[in-house]
Amino acid sequence: MGILEVKGVGKRFGGLQALGNVNLSVAENTVHAIIGPNGAGKSTLLNCLVGKLIPDTGSVTFQGESVLGRKPHEINQMGISRVFQTPEIFGDLTVFENVMIPCFAKRDGAFRMHAYESVKDEVEIREKARLILDDVNMLEKRDMIAASLSRGDKRRLEMAMCLVQEPKLLLLDEPTAGMARADTNNTIDLLKHIKATRDITMAIIEHDMHVVFSLAERITVLAQGTPLVEDTPENIKGHPKVKEAYLGE
Ligand code: ADP
Ligand code: MG
Repeated sequence: MGILEVKGVGKRFGGLQALGNVNLSVAENTVHAIIGPNGAGKSTLLNCLVGKLIPDTGSVTFQGESVLGRKPHEINQMGISRVFQTPEIFGDLTVFENVMIPCFAKRDGAFRMHAYESVKDEVEIREKARLILDDVNMLEKRDMIAASLSRGDKRRLEMAMCLVQEPKLLLLDEPTAGMARADTNNTIDLLKHIKATRDITMAIIEHDMHVVFSLAERITVLAQGTPLVEDTPENIKGHPKVKEAYLGE
């Protein structure tokens, strides 16, 4: 059984069936990509995993426990963190403060600053934040105001804000969207580094095939709200249905 199991998930918006009958199993400690054309339902699926949307049908379990009916912060506390399509950071706080806040959020289920329970707690949280910033190569920018960061660094900061929570499952919705090639390659290297240095499972939605084939061990192709095929990158590349539905060949 996978760390994440999605069974028969359907989601309708009014007359639009955004997700039909999605089955997906993400194996622990792998990078699993979900690809598919615009409007295929990728973000909707992700929203169903993190409690932002409640599916109409089906089940979602994480480490054998149902996530359905739980609030986003509760799902986060179970060990799932998510990188959004557009960075969600606290623009008027420093980089360092931004990385500390998710530590409190994971513990308390609420975003607040300086919610230390003891001096020891403060030392530990500050050290955790420092290590993560070092990991994503942003330690020298720790005192910068987050709003003043470049677009690439904002993404990097958001990644750090997820990682500092030590998630078991990291969900990424188009982490390289809108990036120039150099930034995209930096992001690939960063994700590889993250994967190599901890026990973590990643589910990544991505339209850039270069990113997908650089990182993914399994690929699910979603088309019109239904998985078309799930296979290894090698097999996906040559799959006639995928070429037709996705690569436009
Ligand atoms: P993808 O991320 O694969 O591009 P989405 O999951 O964002 O696709 O969208 C799937 C379909 O559901 C699209 O047709 C989109 O317009 C529709 N959709 C997504 N979110 C909503 C919403 N909140 N209300 C109505 N329709 C939505
Ligand atoms: Mg999307």
